[in-house]
Amino acid sequence: MIRTSDMLNWVRPNIRNLKPYSSARSEFKGQADIFLDANENPFETGMNRYPDPLQWAVKNKIANLKNIPAEHIFLGNGSDEVIDLLIRIFCEPGQEAIMVLPPTYGMYQVSADISNVAVKKVSLSSDFQPDVDAILSEADEKTKLLFLCSPNNPTGNNMDSGQIQYLIDHFEGIVVIDEAYIDFSNQASWVSAVQTYSNVVVMQTFSKAWGLAGIRLGMAFTSTDIIALLNKVKPPYNVNQLSQEAALKALDNHKEVERTIQTIIQERQRITIALEALDFVQECIPSQANFILVRLEDPRRVYTYLLEEKIIVRDRSQVHLCAGALRITIGRPEENDQLLDRLRRFS
Ligand SMILES: *Cc1c(COP(=O)(O)O)cnc(C)c1O
Repeated sequence: MIRTSDMLNWVRPNIRNLKPYSSARSEFKGQADIFLDANENPFETGMNRYPDPLQWAVKNKIANLKNIPAEHIFLGNGSDEVIDLLIRIFCEPGQEAIMVLPPTYGMYQVSADISNVAVKKVSLSSDFQPDVDAILSEADEKTKLLFLCSPNNPTGNNMDSGQIQYLIDHFEGIVVIDEAYIDFSNQASWVSAVQTYSNVVVMQTFSKAWGLAGIRLGMAFTSTDIIALLNKVKPPYNVNQLSQEAALKALDNHKEVERTIQTIIQERQRITIALEALDFVQECIPSQANFILVRLEDPRRVYTYLLEEKIIVRDRSQVHLCAGALRITIGRPEENDQLLDRLRRFS
């Protein structure tokens, strides 16, 4: 098991020594009636004050829902901000590396490229599981972050939890588990593991199951040491007031969100069966997410045909291990009916 002291040694020295910007709102802790400390306009617009830099109201509701202390939660401008912050905290540009397991989410690589951080790639197996031996033998002391995506985008499958546990125990760096699609999955979240392991970061997002891609709000659950580093490096007001308010409202109505998740899961089942009945469909990869990766005889032709019918799907046929595949997001039932209707008429 990774000790906290090891974990802190992996932090870039400039970040370890960084004295963070201290905003007016983060310095003042008491109660006041008159706020003359932040050069805000005093006349009410509903938005004239800076938002809470640490978003405690939102975190407290998430803490309740996920059964984890709020001290273990970080909120970012989308999970994409969390990915970028982790790379900037742990990886020295031009020297150190992250590891990803293709085919997977593209932002890990893009964020690393922007920071001039190398990307080591270890292919998933043909059934889209991590190759644990290859991962541990390819990783060296410069490989700071390992990104695991479960359920994985674009394949939709869960990663085997025994293999994830093995990597947490043996990878000598930070293990990031991206759970953007966890609410559609039959597998348990790794959120509670962050209270045990100081080197685990679990990412979730309001962009998928919560139906709030527009507000840009991502969650990271991790050890209080990594939370402190994330808070030090983030822009002071990284989650704006409108997003915080929208999240609070959604968290109060989470029962409604759970209903839409159930509908999407049922639709996933229905569409999988209907797609597999089409003669030009070779297979649907069994999905634990809100999309299906479908292998077809002629993906480009099907893609173009659907586009002519004003239906857009994602062509993944040029992606590693995804030959012949389109990724289709689960829509509303009537949208899925239209998709199936058009596909039945394709020949
Ligand atoms: C959609 C997605 C995200 C979400 O990113 P946000 O910045 O929170 O919208 C993160 N990871 C994966 C694998 C995704 O597919």
